[in-house]
Amino acid sequence: MSELKELYQEVILDHSRNPRNFRALQNATHKAEGYNPLCGDRLTVYLLVQGDVIQDVSFQGSGCAISKASASMMSAQMKGKTTAEARKIFGHFHQMLAGDQKKTWDKNILGKLAVFSGVSEYPVRVKCATLPWHTLRAGLEGGAQTPVSTESFSTEWTAG
Ligand code: ZN
Repeated sequence: MSELKELYQEVILDHSRNPRNFRALQNATHKAEGYNPLCGDRLTVYLLVQGDVIQDVSFQGSGCAISKASASMMSAQMKGKTTAEARKIFGHFHQMLAGDQKKTWDKNILGKLAVFSGVSEYPVRVKCATLPWHTLRAGLEGGAQTPVSTESFSTEWTAG
């Protein structure tokens, strides 16, 4: 087993068993729901945005280990970031999971999130890993009227 695969399993296990920021945010300024019908992952992402800075992120819901771990790691990484930085990180994350052969995504921008790179080999799992991110985006964009679904994601956010 490669070192990255081992690290991946370790990180996914840790975050799915002990998800960070797994709670409702009472003073949330933004909130959105996401649903992945292929796997049954369902979650709500809460955001506290002040000015242009994401002061706090949390989530609640149920789903597979990958969706939970992805939401947990996302929440940990997004705290203190500007909304522009959040868009950029999501763009690179999305590019990595899309299995971009040109490697336009930057490992340094993704940091620990790079452990998800192996998921690109499993298209069904890609939806689990990106669900929390699409939900975060829907929340930042003012909250979705209806829950966002992995079957109707736009690919507007790209790395740049
Ligand atoms: Zn899933």
